Amino acid sequence: AIPLVAQLSTAIGAKNGLLVRSRSALEDARTVQVVLFDKTGTLTEGRQGVAQVTAAAGLEVDEVLALAASIEAKSEHPIARAIVAEAKERKLRIERTTQFANLAGRGAEANLGDRRVTVASQRLVTERGLSIGVDLVHSTRAATGEGKTVVFVVDESGVLGSIALADVIRPESVEAVSKLRKSGIRVAMLTGDSHAVAAFVAAKLGITEIFAEVLPGQKADVVKKLQSDGTRVAMVGDGVNDAPALAQADVGIAIGAGTDVAIESAGIVLASSDPRGVLAAITLSRSTYRKMQ
Ligand code: ADP
Ligand code: MG
Repeated sequence: AIPLVAQLSTAIGAKNGLLVRSRSALEDARTVQVVLFDKTGTLTEGRQGVAQVTAAAGLEVDEVLALAASIEAKSEHPIARAIVAEAKERKLRIERTTQFANLAGRGAEANLGDRRVTVASQRLVTERGLSIGVDLVHSTRAATGEGKTVVFVVDESGVLGSIALADVIRPESVEAVSKLRKSGIRVAMLTGDSHAVAAFVAAKLGITEIFAEVLPGQKADVVKKLQSDGTRVAMVGDGVNDAPALAQADVGIAIGAGTDVAIESAGIVLASSDPRGVLAAITLSRSTYRKMQ
């Protein structure tokens, strides 16, 4: 009878947009106490668009954007794609670069002629001890306060400008979070993005527990920390950088539209990329495995 119930629940899962890759993940879902959501691409749609380009004194915004696009042309990151798309839209010239380096969770850099140019996160700018002009500080504060991600364009002479990118919160995320909380489940958010952007998105969704500016290699450590007192954790993510955290969690749940690496690291996949599927999985697990006892 056991395999039959499990098969049945797999079929019911499919009807709810759940792809069960591992039966034990579905079985364990009923024990989950905390759901840890990745932000970009999971609670948000992950389709970034350039909202604003700001240039430091004496520079043109298109110059700043063209520089950034030349560097990002070799990156697969959603931020990189948005910057390149905007530069193409504005018919700017994308230059050839050499010595490209991906700075995981921090940005990207390459040589353009004899200049080393970096598209950098706020964190990297701080780590390098670079100062940001007053105008840029103001526009950055305004943008991050509205939940926009800001990256900086930097060369040896300093910070040349900034680019604000806007993402959209998935409309289903609000209900997904509120219903989980109503069912007595703790909800937390995990992101590599800045504290300000994380706080904005969290406030919109009623999430109070936030882990921000977490580097790709540290996401699994956050899961471990939550588990250290025996708490059962479900991690929900879409990106390559979420894969170790998905594997570390008691239940790993991937967004269907996410990367192959994330999907392969997860026991359950939300085929329709709808975060409400997390509660559906927990509910299905509870009803299925109660019947079997
Ligand atoms: P998340 O956890 O939200 O998916 P990531 O770990 O991919 O975020 O990136 C974290 C931060 O690192 C981004 O918000 C951005 O500031 C910076 N970053 C990473 N890769 C790039 C890139 N190619 N270009 C510009 N910024 C980047
Ligand atoms: Mg993501």
